[in-house]
Amino acid sequence: MQKFGRQSAAAQRAAERREREDAAPRLVQEVPDLTSLRLEIEETNEAAAGASAPKYVRRVVIGSAPALFLIQCGDPGCTDGGHDVTRPIMEALRSHRTIFTGSDECRGSIGPASCTRVLRFEGTAEYAARS
Ligand SMILES: [Zn+2]
Repeated sequence: MQKFGRQSAAAQRAAERREREDAAPRLVQEVPDLTSLRLEIEETNEAAAGASAPKYVRRVVIGSAPALFLIQCGDPGCTDGGHDVTRPIMEALRSHRTIFTGSDECRGSIGPASCTRVLRFEGTAEYAARS
């Protein structure tokens, strides 16, 4: 069971993330008039110029989603990395912005080196019309 330690560490991180998500307030409580949220996420590696992971879209399920945005680092060799973009996203949603962008550098490490991945996101949000 040579792989066990590594897998359980990953499983533990996943469990911790779920715990944080469960403990976080719901998105619908924080931004009650939010009706849709879509995040386009792109990760680039500053060290390897030009190399970037394909963009992907995360559609947030309003109603059950936590007001917490933790995105895993796309590098499988990265430890303790990842992106917590909760603050910029919640600030944008609270101020009812319909399009917003931001970025976050990974603070993890790959072996003895630090991870150089940078996450960029573009959010598109819709809000219920105020009556
Ligand atoms: Zn990383």
